[in-house]
Amino acid sequence: MAEPFDVVIVGGGQAALAASYFLRRTGLTYVILDNGTQAGGAWVHGWDSLHLFSPASYSSLPGWPMPDTPDGSYPTRDEVLDYLHRYEARYAPPIHRPVMVGRVERTDQKFLNVRTSVGDFVSRAVIGATGTWSAPFIPDYPGRELFVRTQIHSSHYRNALPFAGQRLLVVGGGNSGAQIMAELSLVAQATWVTQHDPVFLPDDVDGRVLFERATARVLGGPSAMPTGGFGDIVMVPPVRAARERGVLHAVRQFVRMTATGVVWPDGREEAIDAIIWCTGFRPALSMFAPLDVIEPDGLIRVNGQQAVREPRLWLLGYGSWCGPASATLLGAGRVARSMVRQLAAWLASPAQGVR
Ligand code: FAD
Repeated sequence: MAEPFDVVIVGGGQAALAASYFLRRTGLTYVILDNGTQAGGAWVHGWDSLHLFSPASYSSLPGWPMPDTPDGSYPTRDEVLDYLHRYEARYAPPIHRPVMVGRVERTDQKFLNVRTSVGDFVSRAVIGATGTWSAPFIPDYPGRELFVRTQIHSSHYRNALPFAGQRLLVVGGGNSGAQIMAELSLVAQATWVTQHDPVFLPDDVDGRVLFERATARVLGGPSAMPTGGFGDIVMVPPVRAARERGVLHAVRQFVRMTATGVVWPDGREEAIDAIIWCTGFRPALSMFAPLDVIEPDGLIRVNGQQAVREPRLWLLGYGSWCGPASATLLGAGRVARSMVRQLAAWLASPAQGVR
């Protein structure tokens, strides 16, 4: 058997880069396996006009701050991608691309075996950093399988061009729904469908405040956390402009879908050309299923970032369930710092055998 790595990181987006920054200083051996063809993780697939909800100074990975945008505005998708490309070039983390990780299994010794499209990697610990983009979620609407016209998830939405002049439904009341609705309403007859009234943050509240809330929650527990959270809609300039145009009205859900449209609660049937599902994602964890760690809710139970049922498995990114704000650029760095410290200590503990 080849010499095992101390750590294998599965996934090569921002969370993996943050973990790598701190791992490099520990002297542990590690490798990053990413099925993408270029740097950037989920940002490669974001829609063209996607804006961050915080300024560059609140969107940096450890070590090298994201450069300010020329006009101090919220960075766009392309600016984030450029930053991630340059961050990788600067730190040259040991990333192998494209490598698809199919399964992570226990060996009969003390290791995990990471089975990939290019062979097996044996490791003392594995960090899951696979994000959520590859696991889009669409709710189970009655008749959805009958609909013969276009339906796409926000994960595959690029821009408004293919939808010009059409009758559309944009489903979902988070930041994706608001940003995509704002854009489509300029060129199409779009209706915004949400489960509840969307929650808009005040104009002067952006990602900065949300990070401070997440920090307050960590320091002071839930009672110290002011209301509002990462799901609430940040009034980035295009969303604010849409509000000024009076198009950000949301209606409640339709009761079922037909071959060519939807039926509303009052029985009215409406023809629709396309539906854009902005209904979120689930963590992409299926490669860890052979470890028998996935709970009925689809998550992995963690103590901090360490899986409770498999202590060799650590998780970073995904959402606040594995570290406050860890699905964001700034949050991933903060959580990675403490996670790597704990992981290194755990690997050095007598039970794990110092190498
Ligand atoms: P990803 O970027 O998804 O990277 C995971 C990598 O793992 C990918 O390259 C993927 O291909 C790879 N992978 C998956 N499965 C496998 C496998 N089996 N084998 C090998 N590789 C695999 N974040 C912010 O910080 N600030 C913001 O202002 C912000 N605004 C946002 C606004 C919107 C509207 C949206 C939708 C998102 C926003 N985000 C923001 C969040 C951000 O886009 C993601 O949360 C982030 O990309 C997650 O990073 P990650 O490294 O955890 O996962």
